[in-house]
Amino acid sequence: MYIDSHCHINFPELAARLPEILAAMRANQVSHALCVAVNFEHLQSVLDLAAAHPNVYASVGVHPDHEQDEEPTVERLIELAGHGKVVAIGETGLDYFRLTGDLEWQRERFRTHIRAAIANAKPLIIHTRSAAEDTLRIMREEGAERAGGVMHCFTESLAVAEAAIDMGFYISFSGIVTFKSAKELKEVARVVPLDKMLIETDSPYLAPVPHRGQMNEPAFVVHVAEEIARIRGIALEQVAQATTRNFLELFRIPRPELA
Ligand SMILES: [Zn+2]
Ligand SMILES: [Zn+2]
Repeated sequence: MYIDSHCHINFPELAARLPEILAAMRANQVSHALCVAVNFEHLQSVLDLAAAHPNVYASVGVHPDHEQDEEPTVERLIELAGHGKVVAIGETGLDYFRLTGDLEWQRERFRTHIRAAIANAKPLIIHTRSAAEDTLRIMREEGAERAGGVMHCFTESLAVAEAAIDMGFYISFSGIVTFKSAKELKEVARVVPLDKMLIETDSPYLAPVPHRGQMNEPAFVVHVAEEIARIRGIALEQVAQATTRNFLELFRIPRPELA
């Protein structure tokens, strides 16, 4: 059993193929997917998907790349997180790669999400790109360890992974770990403790090898697990079991009865 801890199957290119995508998950033993919100405008499509499918969960948040979108407040995030299938706050964080200039608004927005997650006792889904130092600093300043969560689509150094783990966070690996060029990331995936690791697709982006260049989907998370097993020299089953258990624990989802 595998779980895709981070996908965007509400995006139109995937939503249009939803029956096929859910069937491919079943065929590949991908039992659950967490559909992550990126703004308020499209949140309803995330919540509708989660309401319609028992194995699809949702988050609430506004992505750091979405500068023009409605700005979240702590109160609004908490109110929206009241939906029964919402298991996390995010994705939130800092992205100094996509956007440049004065990004103080991004840091403020990140703080807002951390405060909402702490107040609401829900884990955070954190996106960080070319901004690791500020991300960790703000996590420390805001006491993010009280909420916990995951560093999603992790591409930073081992030192950053260890600092996040010290604050009680999990490290989630995406299809990037299957890319031949991702040498440093493969090393991180080799040494991060198995009980601190999640796997994800971030679909429709970042399809893993051997689907690189195609549209990504949750069923492909199996290839991320395969690569981690190969790197660590352990059984695929071990990666599957650990990442599934970690996901269910972090997002406080009852373990499903195994058929
Ligand atoms: Zn992200
Ligand atoms: Zn994402």
